[in-house]
Amino acid sequence: MTSNLLVDNPRPTVATPALRTKAELRAAVAEAKREGQTVGFVPTMGYLHEGHLSLIQAARAECDFVVMSLFVNPTQFGAGEDLDRYPRDEERDLRLAGEAGADVVFAPTVEEVYPDGLDGFVTYVEVTGSLTNVLDGDPSRRGPEHFRGVTTVVAKLFNLVGPDVAYFGQKDAQQAVVIRRMVRDLDFPVRIEVLPTVREADGLAMSSRNAYLSPEDRERATVLSRALAAAERGAQAGSLGMGLEAARRELAAAGIEPEYLEARDAKTLGRVHALEDRPVLVLVAAPVGAARLIDNVLIHPTNSNPQS
Ligand code: AMP
Repeated sequence: MTSNLLVDNPRPTVATPALRTKAELRAAVAEAKREGQTVGFVPTMGYLHEGHLSLIQAARAECDFVVMSLFVNPTQFGAGEDLDRYPRDEERDLRLAGEAGADVVFAPTVEEVYPDGLDGFVTYVEVTGSLTNVLDGDPSRRGPEHFRGVTTVVAKLFNLVGPDVAYFGQKDAQQAVVIRRMVRDLDFPVRIEVLPTVREADGLAMSSRNAYLSPEDRERATVLSRALAAAERGAQAGSLGMGLEAARRELAAAGIEPEYLEARDAKTLGRVHALEDRPVLVLVAAPVGAARLIDNVLIHPTNSNPQS
């Protein structure tokens, strides 16, 4: 568990400067690199919570110069998704990022990132196939275009920052698998670190989208992590299938019908039916009130308590 940065913070309260242009970002990173500093990078869409801060903290601990990006990337939102209402509070984000240890925050406009407009942008980076057309990438859900938007903007940001290490959250497990694959296939000279999901005291995975939850839905949302815990117990007790059934019952009892609740190989995202010799992800996505929430648990075959 990370320390509670929002409450108990040893660093002075200094808002990190926001860099608005690619030129300013490149200049700041170039100066750090000239001094021989290693560069850590944390891409975010802002509205920071402890999950984001744990990534900045890790970057601060391992790298000399820490860049966070704050950009709600339109190309990863589908029509009818929550791009327009995505929560934002830049002033608070700059303060929290600074307190957690970011040296600079790249907070560009959409025009700065996509100068020819979204219609005029024609070059995408796409991880094709079975990593991006399942789960959230299933065409009936967010679709592969979602991950195409993510990999494209992350590739652009990697080109701008040139980080030694980039930090992502296990909370978005499929995204992490897809980004690792992009880095491998395209030889990006960056090490990818994926850090554990940070949770509220009652188990709810932290997410900027939790802001959409009414108090009643916020309470109901705790069932996601309870369902995943039930799945993990079943798997560790010898039956992944029974674990998934127990998880399904938990969700149903809370009146929640998942978009998916599936066990997948943690590397290939192929379906698995039993816990054997490889790590298994159990992933869930579900509408809860006005929010669409996702969560997952990583189950190791020989470790009874693999993830916080
Ligand atoms: P977002 O701003 O939602 O795009 O997330 C930015 C980064 O923070 C991604 O790598 C996410 O996986 C990560 N992240 C989001 N929520 C959490 C969490 N609860 N714990 C750890 N990392 C998280």
